[in-house]
Amino acid sequence: MDENEKAQIWKDYSLEHWNDWKWQIKNRITDTEQLSKIVHLKKEEKEDIEKCLQKFKMAITPYYAALIDDSNPDCPIRKQAIPSAKELIIDPCEREDPLCEEKYSPVPGLVHRYPDRVLLVLTHKCSMYCRHCTRRRLVGCEDYSISDKRLEAALEYIRKNTVIRDVLLSGGDPLVMPDARLEGIIKKVREIPHVEIIRIGTRTPVVLPMRITDELLNMLKKYHPLWINTHFNHPKEITKESSEACRKIVDAGIPLGNQSVLLRGVNDDTEILKALFLKLVSIRVRPYYLYQCDVSQGIGHFRTKVSKGMEMLKSIRGNITGFAVPEYVIDAPGGGGKTPVNRDYIVDMTEEGVTLRNFEGKIFYYPNPKE
Ligand SMILES: *Cc1c(COP(=O)(O)O)cnc(C)c1O
Ligand code: SF4
Repeated sequence: MDENEKAQIWKDYSLEHWNDWKWQIKNRITDTEQLSKIVHLKKEEKEDIEKCLQKFKMAITPYYAALIDDSNPDCPIRKQAIPSAKELIIDPCEREDPLCEEKYSPVPGLVHRYPDRVLLVLTHKCSMYCRHCTRRRLVGCEDYSISDKRLEAALEYIRKNTVIRDVLLSGGDPLVMPDARLEGIIKKVREIPHVEIIRIGTRTPVVLPMRITDELLNMLKKYHPLWINTHFNHPKEITKESSEACRKIVDAGIPLGNQSVLLRGVNDDTEILKALFLKLVSIRVRPYYLYQCDVSQGIGHFRTKVSKGMEMLKSIRGNITGFAVPEYVIDAPGGGGKTPVNRDYIVDMTEEGVTLRNFEGKIFYYPNPKE
């Protein structure tokens, strides 16, 4: 999208506004009226999207929307950002909370699933609502940010449990919060002596790269060792702007990893995945995990068979730099935790699904999507 097109869509468009993350958030596309200025929508499509919006929110940053190729109905950016009627088709095997995060939550907002680390949900907001979001039961449903009271209860739990050496700040997307609020939280986590590392999980570099400001990084780097994992799914997302955001993060001494989700019709193709992994290492982002898509409600159309992922990774591994290849994992439905898809963990595999033994020796089952 060029400057003229942008100026036609956003009345107060200027390069300065465009590069201001608060302007980007304020101007997010949230209804079909605005959306039809970006992409050509047929009447039926508009109706389908409106039906979806009654159940799941839409929000697309102008930056991310501008990456959509309107001439391509299969555009991978479009599929991740624009609702589809398929979201309303729910298979009986799909669940609201496939990872059983509620069950592993000792205090509200905190998930303690693995022995040495916890996940702290700071907000349910994101700058862009991914259509494939696994936490969609929460994300984009209510405008939640952690209260001081809840935060204190979570911190108290971490203080008491001295086995916790790794705190993962997640959401939603923690980087939609203002710097001062974020710093207030990180500072308190950092004060806990047994917390060795702090991590942030964020899609901001991909969908709102202008949020990665010098001020933010100067704040974050006071709290090292701090790691960030982001979420690129397609090589088209690696733009000048997102590369620059990643460069700044890495230059601040923050190791930057990437967690992709294997998504049918978006990146379930060997050449696309290979290009993604190679581009990521060239911008100094380490591919960390490739997730099998969860059995969350309304995202079934994005799921692939597990054998497909295995075949693709097999043909990539060895042919490119070792550290460009992420670990392929299934977050085992029923709360089994992240389980590598390989012979040590697969107990049985049929056309219908995969039986896995998790890190605790317990058995879980991932159903393949039905053709
Ligand atoms: C993914 C996740 C973590 C972090 O797991 P790693 O394998 O160490 O990246 C921690 N807690 C929960 C609940 C998670 O889902
Ligand atoms: S950024 Fe993450 S939490 Fe937010 S909508 Fe996307 S997948 Fe869900």
